[in-house]
Amino acid sequence: LFNKIPRAPPDKILGLTEQFSKDTNNNKVNLTVGVYKDDKGLVSTFPTVAKAQKILEQGEKMNSDFSYLPIIGSPSYRISTLNFLFRDSCPESGPKLLEQERVSFVQTLSGTGALAVAADLLAQFVSRTVWVPRPSWPNHVNIFKRHGFSDVREYPYYEDGKLDVDEWITHLRKNVKKNEGVRHCIILHACCHNPTGLDPTMKQWQQILDTIHELEMIPIIDMAYQGLESGNPVRDAYVLRMCLDKSRYESWPHGLFLCQSFAKNMGLYGERVGSLSVVVPPNQPDSKDNVESQLKQIVRSMYSSPPGYGCRVATMVLSNDNFKRDWYKNVETMVQRLLNVRQGMYDRLGWKGLLNFEQQHGMFFYTGLKPHALNRLREEYSIYMTMDGRLSLSGINDSNIDYVCDALKAISD
Ligand code: PMP
Repeated sequence: LFNKIPRAPPDKILGLTEQFSKDTNNNKVNLTVGVYKDDKGLVSTFPTVAKAQKILEQGEKMNSDFSYLPIIGSPSYRISTLNFLFRDSCPESGPKLLEQERVSFVQTLSGTGALAVAADLLAQFVSRTVWVPRPSWPNHVNIFKRHGFSDVREYPYYEDGKLDVDEWITHLRKNVKKNEGVRHCIILHACCHNPTGLDPTMKQWQQILDTIHELEMIPIIDMAYQGLESGNPVRDAYVLRMCLDKSRYESWPHGLFLCQSFAKNMGLYGERVGSLSVVVPPNQPDSKDNVESQLKQIVRSMYSSPPGYGCRVATMVLSNDNFKRDWYKNVETMVQRLLNVRQGMYDRLGWKGLLNFEQQHGMFFYTGLKPHALNRLREEYSIYMTMDGRLSLSGINDSNIDYVCDALKAISD
């Protein structure tokens, strides 16, 4: 029986890290995974997060209860995360939705867990068709296929160094027919599109959202990098704010899904802290509780209940105004360093091949390099990037920036 199980391909991103660990070159540089490293090349805890952690581990606030959390997560995490997402990030429209009991919520295993639980719910009750940008984070397709989506389609997002919003809209208009009996979901990267680092302008977003609203599609907002575009988490929730703007869209008649993560913006990667919020349509008094009851069923059968430690830390940061303000400053510091690295590379390379330098933002730099160049970088210089040409900026610091830029110049000559 077991000899019928074929070998699965290595993960496109984590597989490279495994290869990196075995590389014996002293100059090796890992620019694959999206984990923020400081200017010494270390993954360090955000100062505010470390402070919250200390309080939780000492003194009267020390947690001594390691029993299970409720299936849908910690009640205090729920309150503070909903406040952050729907009051702080969407002050005009969010509070009303909470008051009207229109947001079903579940604490999830970070952003990936939120997407998986959302896919499960949608596939079971609403739709098995989802549109994903081309290119996208490769796990989007994995997750939706594994969680019941039989029809995963791509919309054109980026081609030959350009974001093509007109093509995106035209493609949807041609291929999504709202009366054909199929509901179409669509994944939207809220900001810092992974891997390209390019996002539509506000005006373009408005056209896109108008189109998907008119086509009665179901938005699944993937907000994994809130704060990493502008340095301010509240400002970066603009797609969510636009979707919930009552003056534009009375409602999303088939619901709106928000998959959110504190992995990148609080540095809580391995703690798996995130959430799924489902905004249900108005005037359906039972929908919020019905949806939440189904989310509970899904979680129960998938992993029973979420882990407790990271969400306690996040709750401590989110539930105190001073902590929250300091956290925002930490995010700003991180984004400033990412910008400095981007600028430092630009200054050294002066390289025409640096695509869209001014418009890209976030953790990554999408170089446009092709696989043969990436293979050379890895084989000749031990510089590891993902095979789509994406480079994780924070892996670069004063001690390796010249080495990386010289190698980039050498392989592109
Ligand atoms: N969505 C996108 C676009 C991502 O890049 C990531 C992280 N690489 C995630 C979701 C989920 O990350 P996590 O599960 O660590 O929160």
